[in-house]
Amino acid sequence: MTTYDFWMSKFGDYTPIKQIAIMVGMAVMASDVLAVFFFLLIGLDRLVIVLAVTTFIVVIVSVPLGAFLVGLNFRLKKSAMQLDVASRRDGLTGLYNRNEFYLQAQRQITLCDPERSAGALLYIDADHFKSINDRHGHAVGDSVLQEIGGLIRSTIGDWDFAARFGGEEFAIFLRDADLEEADRLSRRILRGVRDISKTLQIGDLDVTVSVGISIHEPGQSLEAALVAADKCLYAAKSQGRNRIVHADSNLTILHDPQLRKV
Ligand code: GH3
Ligand code: MG
Ligand code: MG
Repeated sequence: MTTYDFWMSKFGDYTPIKQIAIMVGMAVMASDVLAVFFFLLIGLDRLVIVLAVTTFIVVIVSVPLGAFLVGLNFRLKKSAMQLDVASRRDGLTGLYNRNEFYLQAQRQITLCDPERSAGALLYIDADHFKSINDRHGHAVGDSVLQEIGGLIRSTIGDWDFAARFGGEEFAIFLRDADLEEADRLSRRILRGVRDISKTLQIGDLDVTVSVGISIHEPGQSLEAALVAADKCLYAAKSQGRNRIVHADSNLTILHDPQLRKV
């Protein structure tokens, strides 16, 4: 058991003032006991001995105190880091959460040259996800979401980022990507998703997703780019799902007929 564990088990629930009082009280008691011990043992009538003994006592008392404080500091830092990660991530998939996605995407757009596009925004929504839950239960539904999250993570590049927006919705920001790149990546995701029902052995139900792509226009706000991607996703849903739609003057379907499973 470490000094920290011992302390927390005995006094962890006390107020900070009480804990400080106990700590100082214990240090004083330990110092006094040691001082009396040395006084009885050798007598304290010579300056050199007084200095040596005082130094010794201070070391004996301050080492466990220091170990405790360093341990406490280390634990606090670790907890702060864990909380920081948890506040940015979606617990189920490990992808960013919606809030962090907005922050990161806003940063990309702010840093981007106003004459240039910051990249591509993709909205992805699992198709008929309610049926998967209804037929196989929420635990399988959660596994499907994890598989989609893992697929997205392994498909995007190191400089891109993705989030689970909540429910069965995901978003991807592809830095500096053009429509061709965004479409290629979306197709890989559509294909990968098709394998999920095999991986999870729920062969009676196809897992598919719909994708809306918006290419950020120079000077465009994040909100406007996201609205454009959302509109495309909506169009992909209303045109039959399991497809990719992007806004290229008018809505153009880019889905690969090979991928359709009607
Ligand atoms: P659509 O193709 O139109 O998107 O249909 P859908 O069934 O996917 O969409 P709908 O919005 O009707 O249903 C979404 C479902 O997602 C309902 C909800 O129970 C389920 N869901 C949301 N969050 C979670 C989750 O964290 N885990 C699981 N297992 N299901 C979830
Ligand atoms: Mg859905
Ligand atoms: Mg949805």
